[in-house]
Amino acid sequence: MSLLVASVAVPRPVRRLFTYSVPPALAPRCRPGVRVIVPFGRSLLTGYLLDVHESGKDRGTSPPLKPIEEVLDSEPVLDAQVLELTRFAADYYVSSLGEMIRSALPGMKARVEKVVSMTAAGRAALGGGGGVLLDASLPRIASDPLAREILGVVAEFTSAHGAALRLPDLKRRVGPRFKPALLERLRRGSLVEVTEIATSSGLRPRLEEHALLRESEEAPRGSRRKRLLDVLAGHGGTMPVAELLRLAGAPRAALRSLEAAGRVSIEGVESPRRPASLEMALEPRVPVTPTPDQARAIETIREALESRSFSPFLLHGVTGSGKTEIYLRAIEAAVASGRRALYLVPEIGLTPLLARRMRSRFGEVLALLHSGLTDGERYDEWRRIRDGRVDVVLGARSAVFAPIPGLGLIVVDEEHDASYKQEEHPRYNGRDLAILRGKLAKAVVILGSATPSMETFLQARRGRYRMLSLPGRIGSAGLPRVERVDMRREFQEVGRETILSRRLIAGLEERLRRGEQSLVLLNRRGFSTFVLCRSCGEQVQCRQCSIPMTLHLRRKRLNCHYCDDSRPVPSACPICGSAHLHFGGTGTERLEEVLKTALPGARVARLDRDTARGRGAVESLLMHVERGEVDILLGTQMIAKGHDFPNVTLVGVVAADALLALPDFRAGERAFQLLAQVAGRSGRGDRAGEVIVQAYYADHHAIRHACDHDYAGFAARELTFRRAMNYPPYAALAVLLVKGRVFERAREDAGGIARTLRGLAGRRIQVLGPAPAPLERLRGDYRVQILVKAPNRKDLQATVADTLQALDRIKLNVENLVIDIDPMSTL
Ligand code: ADP
Ligand code: ZN
Ligand code: ZN
Repeated sequence: MSLLVASVAVPRPVRRLFTYSVPPALAPRCRPGVRVIVPFGRSLLTGYLLDVHESGKDRGTSPPLKPIEEVLDSEPVLDAQVLELTRFAADYYVSSLGEMIRSALPGMKARVEKVVSMTAAGRAALGGGGGVLLDASLPRIASDPLAREILGVVAEFTSAHGAALRLPDLKRRVGPRFKPALLERLRRGSLVEVTEIATSSGLRPRLEEHALLRESEEAPRGSRRKRLLDVLAGHGGTMPVAELLRLAGAPRAALRSLEAAGRVSIEGVESPRRPASLEMALEPRVPVTPTPDQARAIETIREALESRSFSPFLLHGVTGSGKTEIYLRAIEAAVASGRRALYLVPEIGLTPLLARRMRSRFGEVLALLHSGLTDGERYDEWRRIRDGRVDVVLGARSAVFAPIPGLGLIVVDEEHDASYKQEEHPRYNGRDLAILRGKLAKAVVILGSATPSMETFLQARRGRYRMLSLPGRIGSAGLPRVERVDMRREFQEVGRETILSRRLIAGLEERLRRGEQSLVLLNRRGFSTFVLCRSCGEQVQCRQCSIPMTLHLRRKRLNCHYCDDSRPVPSACPICGSAHLHFGGTGTERLEEVLKTALPGARVARLDRDTARGRGAVESLLMHVERGEVDILLGTQMIAKGHDFPNVTLVGVVAADALLALPDFRAGERAFQLLAQVAGRSGRGDRAGEVIVQAYYADHHAIRHACDHDYAGFAARELTFRRAMNYPPYAALAVLLVKGRVFERAREDAGGIARTLRGLAGRRIQVLGPAPAPLERLRGDYRVQILVKAPNRKDLQATVADTLQALDRIKLNVENLVIDIDPMSTL
């Protein structure tokens, strides 16, 4: 007799599928693409069923296959295209398919709960009536009083209810003395069993109670009941219960008695959760006539849409050239041709005004997908998308996996932005997957930017992406004038170190007088960026990371910006005890004070991760700026992201050279992009803009070219450097990072991995390291890394995949190995 078995992908770092048996009762629901609960090791996991087939083997294979525990969905959550995309992505990033699918379905995880039950040994340990008659074969823990109490609670519950006790209930019954470690010792001593059960699929449509009027001749008794029926009849015979009670001013009991009398029935009606950001005020649409450059780009895209074949574009337009209008018209064209569109942005939270504009333009057929949504909101939006009820999806990187039927267009706005890269497992890049998705869907893909990444730019230069250019700004004012201030000279002339140059202060004062707005960029949060002991010369570092701690004055704490650990401000050096501490370096918090002191009366606002905490904080801050209630907005790179404030005519950059301090091959590119982007916020209205860039070392080519609005010059220079150093986009790069609590151990493991790699790598593949990563320690883990460079990505992926397989064979522990294909940085 043959057996029905299923292949399941599990969200664990293993690069293979697992086979489970399908219990007959679940067989009808085991369709490819549904989520299932499966036992895995000692726990239960949400896995993804990919395939069901008859196993040729007889029953009784050894060891027997474990069965699928539960099927979570009645309909597949993965359609063929999304499944293929995750398959490709898992291969591309040499990661596990299950983990990739989990990334594709954010928030769609079943809730799994631990339950505790008794074992025979446990009952024996408790003895007949709680006596201390202890068997010598029992573990020592059985005599611990608190452990016995825990056992007692479990035993009592089990015998009373015939079921296992939920862990939270056990904790509640034992009270504050409950210790997880004790339970773990009981489990290891086989006195109790701790297992997991799935309690819910984690996803449910929200139901709202509706009252429904039933036919009847009989007149109701009681005035409140009569009022209820009148209101209900007045609303066409059905309405939400809450509203009915409110309007009729009647208590629930009155409704219940009507229900009992058969006059009214109450049923659950689905009521979708809507993202709060979709409930915003709409803005009137101001129709614009495309400029000739815009019109040309739109026409080309329209033709590509008609061809219904994969057509990738790079839309390279300077800041303020009207790229957004092109995206929106392209979307309208796609929708008009009966297809759907996906619009990806780096961080929706930073572009609330775009969401509002899209909402005004597309109305109900727009869906939003990003990490700021609750799981319920996201699930409801996801279902609206899957069911084809929306035409346009606006989302962050994981929306590249959205189940959009008939996808015809993908827009990747600010394609150079590092936020497209997921910096946790699995490390995929949403922009690169957008290209792949476009291929699968035969769609038009527009990658847009004023400062394209070197990767995308080279693809366009090689003719793989078609280039669309918008060389000029909308309006007559043109690009802003940029001035560099040499802070070395400033120091000599002023005779002391200053944060704001005289030139920048004068510029800000001028804007205040004219009622115009200014932005000031400083890409470091906090007050002081380091604390130095004047006696021993040591910096106060994070206990978990090799990173100096930042002083946050308002919170009165030192904070690590990498692991978020914090501690009180020390009054003495933690190393030598000296009281001579120096708080150095300037972050945005100090800059805010400096600005307020230098420009009394100015309305200054700060935007950085500290002020952006809390739902809606960024949106309301940006609204204040838009309404002209802020004179000077200062902040980190968050102020550079795509904002369109026509009244901003001055942008100041403090410490431009600090952007170049990172020891990473992309440091120059990132600095150029940030400077060009922030400069692009100036002079977007009718008045010409100005930019003042302060730096001690302003001659770096990234700063020079950004100040000259010279993307082509920068790209030429940067690409020459990348080619000479054999870095992307000329080489395919991977970082293999080994983490560990003990440095020697991490280095040893990395050594083993590097040896395996070198053994497998062909002549054309370079293996560098292992070496301590520039960020040597992070969250308590030492980090040792290996760089792999290959002439192309296929060779790179094959080498890394072969290495993983070989490591599996020699059983080298790779639990703490992070694989990063196309890394954003090598820190
Ligand atoms: P980019 O994204 O290229 O930086 P935007 O799309 O934000 O630029 O456009 C800059 C400004 O120009 C916006 O305020 C936009 O509304 C306006 N704009 C765009 N196209 C036109 C047009 N054809 N006519 C008039 N104004 C336009
Ligand atoms: Zn010291
Ligand atoms: Zn830290």
